[in-house]
Amino acid sequence: MDGPLIDPHGRAVTYLRVSVTDRCDFRCLYCMAEDMTFLPKKDVLSLEELEVICSTFVERGVTKLRMTGGEPLVRRDVMWLFRQLSRHLVTGALDELTLTTNGSQLERFSDELADIGIRRINVSLDTLEEDKFTEITRWGRLEKVKAGLNAAKRAGIAIKINTVALRGFNDDEFNNLVQWCGDEGFDLTFIEVMPMGEIGEEARLGQYMPLSMVRAKLNESWSLRDIDYSTGGPARYVEVKETGGRVGFITPMTHNFCESCNRVRLTCTGILYMCLGQEDTADLRTAVRAKDNGTALMNTIDDAIGRKPKGHDFIIDRRRRDPSVPRHMSVTGG
Ligand code: SAM
Ligand code: SF4
Repeated sequence: MDGPLIDPHGRAVTYLRVSVTDRCDFRCLYCMAEDMTFLPKKDVLSLEELEVICSTFVERGVTKLRMTGGEPLVRRDVMWLFRQLSRHLVTGALDELTLTTNGSQLERFSDELADIGIRRINVSLDTLEEDKFTEITRWGRLEKVKAGLNAAKRAGIAIKINTVALRGFNDDEFNNLVQWCGDEGFDLTFIEVMPMGEIGEEARLGQYMPLSMVRAKLNESWSLRDIDYSTGGPARYVEVKETGGRVGFITPMTHNFCESCNRVRLTCTGILYMCLGQEDTADLRTAVRAKDNGTALMNTIDDAIGRKPKGHDFIIDRRRRDPSVPRHMSVTGG
């Protein structure tokens, strides 16, 4: 089999997100429990196996790769993987190699990331107040992330800040975040909290706030104009007249963006999720370990894309006690 990956709903799959590890140096309250059980190391794909799978997707028309996690930059020798994959940037097969990170290791890795050809990164940051930062990440230090952001900026990497909108936590900071990102030259995207993984659903009910409320709050202070800008992801953007910056909104809970979905997700154990919000998977670990010149891998990928569902169905409501999706975001990556 060869040629582009087209799903049964006519959508071309051109974007692969790869969770290179489920481990993390933070424990964000909405993402992980404090005492997380991580995947056994023996189940985790080697960097070489991840490289083979990613390159196979590139061969089949994937033009955008995003490395995520857990925290991608805490996996040992992960730069080797990025460097190997960057050869597809040189040939032009890949338009973009990028990553989503919590920023804690950026001070150390920014120059190398830039050298490899990484032009843009997403950095998750939910608050600009030090105490609150340590509270939401359980362990993190804002100062370290800010130093990392400066290093990335100096290295010439464009930065988008991802902020999860959390009622009663950062809903008094949205204006500050818009101003700060405008001053720093960062894009900013707000995300609705999704019901993924067991963290205590009472806590999540309290956290959830629809982004229509975020936008309404921002409208009181800023002139927002809808723009056509897209980075290939699901965010819808506005331009902030006063700062000249862009603000995006990712609304999985209140607006279904599945009709334009172009992506699939790979976990660090080689499980392919065809939809973030559904349970159906394909086992690429067995396929990549078959000694058959990649035939099993190609066939398993084709079969999986042939099963990509039409959409997801997240629910946060008071009748449900379980999260709609039992796995944590750190497994499939954000
Ligand atoms: N550790 C990296 C980071 O924090 O950027 C990459 C992985 S993290 C799982 C990716 C994104 O998912 C982050 O922006 C995080 O805020 C978001 N996230 C995690 N759990 C979430 C949830 N339950 N709902 C919405 N976003 C979530
Ligand atoms: Fe770690 Fe990112 Fe999850 Fe926070 S959101 S716990 S930084 S994986």
